[in-house]
Amino acid sequence: MRAVFGLRDFRPGQEAVIAALLAGEDVLAVMPTGSGKSLCYQLPALLEEGLTVVVSPLIALMRDQVAQLQALGIAAASLNSANAPEVNRRTVDAVRNGRLALLYAAPERLLQRETVALLRATRVRLLAIDEAHCISQWGHDFRPDYLGLGGLRKSLDGARLIALTATADAATRREIESKLFTHPPRVFVRGFDRPNIGLAMQPKRNAARQLLTFLDGQAGQSGIVYCASRKRTEALAEALTAKGFRTVPYHAGMEKAARDANQDLFLREDGVVVAATVAFGMGIDKPDVRFVCHADMPQTIESYYQEIGRAGRDGLPAATLTLYGLDDMRLRRMQIEEGESTAEKKRIEHQRLNALIALCEAPRCRRQTLLAYFGEQSGACGNCDLCIEGVALVDATVEAQKLLSAAVRTGERFGTEHLIAILRGERSERVLRFGHDRLPTFGVGAEHGKAAWRGVLRQLHAAGCLALEIENYGRWALTEQGRAVLRGERRFEMRPDTTPPRRSGRARRTAADAPQDAPLSAGDDTLLAALKALRLRLAAEENVPAYVVFPDRTLIELARVRPQTRQDMQAIHGVGAVKLAKYGDTFLAAIAATGACAGK
Ligand code: ADP
Ligand code: ZN
Repeated sequence: MRAVFGLRDFRPGQEAVIAALLAGEDVLAVMPTGSGKSLCYQLPALLEEGLTVVVSPLIALMRDQVAQLQALGIAAASLNSANAPEVNRRTVDAVRNGRLALLYAAPERLLQRETVALLRATRVRLLAIDEAHCISQWGHDFRPDYLGLGGLRKSLDGARLIALTATADAATRREIESKLFTHPPRVFVRGFDRPNIGLAMQPKRNAARQLLTFLDGQAGQSGIVYCASRKRTEALAEALTAKGFRTVPYHAGMEKAARDANQDLFLREDGVVVAATVAFGMGIDKPDVRFVCHADMPQTIESYYQEIGRAGRDGLPAATLTLYGLDDMRLRRMQIEEGESTAEKKRIEHQRLNALIALCEAPRCRRQTLLAYFGEQSGACGNCDLCIEGVALVDATVEAQKLLSAAVRTGERFGTEHLIAILRGERSERVLRFGHDRLPTFGVGAEHGKAAWRGVLRQLHAAGCLALEIENYGRWALTEQGRAVLRGERRFEMRPDTTPPRRSGRARRTAADAPQDAPLSAGDDTLLAALKALRLRLAAEENVPAYVVFPDRTLIELARVRPQTRQDMQAIHGVGAVKLAKYGDTFLAAIAATGACAGK
């Protein structure tokens, strides 16, 4: 790890996963984006004889990973349709001759008969399935080809299997276990918190102005602005360019060449903003994205989490802002209704949307609400708009008890509209059919409108008092906390309206991963700019993204520590033997030159 990757310590979770693999176990690793999942199979791949096969859903993702590994001097290659035939042929030869440590391929390629034959004739030690949630039919990234991977594993006698994903929910996890593994694997689940990502959400008032206020704090940084429509990406790219942000659009309707060029620009250079639809990002492995903004409300909490998760993979502070409006909510409801899916699936989609709205309207720490959705308990974070700005709360214990009681008295088997109909005393066909007009709770909440009750429901959900069972017809069930409120042992406070906080939260550093806590001095800043320019030049010469040469964190440490010898430089994050040999002298010379100018 130190000699090849130039890393000083494991990140939480990495060591346990690697130890399990080296001990011969199969592993399912559920770890958030940016937690360093790749190292979990890359390191064993170097420590052991034989080939490690990595399944990755996207060519762009493979290309960047392979480029990064090759820059570290590791024998890695990918087999895919974007490569020239003779490149693929050379890779096949390397596999045959046992010269490769890591082979990357998409599932469709791996499942082809000749690839299977090739792998069967080779000693495959480890099969690593990245983005393993693609096997889930529930998920938004479903890839039918992933279903064939369980069979592939069986035909690779003796190979161990590691499946990796950042998707949190238990249903997906179970699906991965049952479809990929023959025996129950060791399961490692890391917390989903990404403490270095600041969270903020605001209802749209003047969206353009809100966006610009946020971006003003981000000048010169790389970032993504997600938009709901193709047209809007183009309009925003133009508007932001006019304001001095180097912005390009990205959406699936663009010509492929233009789209790829914009993506490459973003990956390769510093300080580019992409105004994109959700088509952008799955393949983006860029570690130094400093902000993600949603100019329109995201689709679901899962997609929100994934999209903001593209910021700050390097562990340094990153900022996010999400704008949402009533129009977004209405549009999403309509899209669900007009979709192709079954009534059942639509109901689930609506429930998911409700959960997202609850997050937008959360009365307390957003991170707490977000993590609660993934089944994780946590304290107030101090790095979200609600923690930083605070919000006024009113006591709504009585309303909460009415609602919780309606849920309990109907056996915790019903969804939103039915519970609200009971509270409001509506004799709907369903209410009458179940005899719910005879419940003591029938009509006890007639003083509030439907919207107000939905607000109570969402906020009870957000506070962890009611759980939404999406697998179970979207019914509401009480949690321990909810029962405590119902019994009068706990008060329930809620946000009376959706008045937004005044400004967005500022990103904070995670102590554990930050290079050092003090800000860079002015002299360091000058040096850092010089090092970035040097990095960009080297990257352009080699035709790789800037971060393949060195990540930001390495440059920041170089600017601060100012190593003078190769030996000093070896202690810097990200400087392994191969990069030291290749770039050491160039960077040392640049540091010496700037140091002399600055008289330091
Ligand atoms: P994931 O696949 O979980 O999203 P990656 O494997 O892409 O995460 O790693 C994210 C970033 O973290 C990369 O830039 C990687 O170099 C860095 N990283 C991984 N492990 C460590 C470590 N032990 N110490 C410092 N940085 C690390
Ligand atoms: Zn918070």
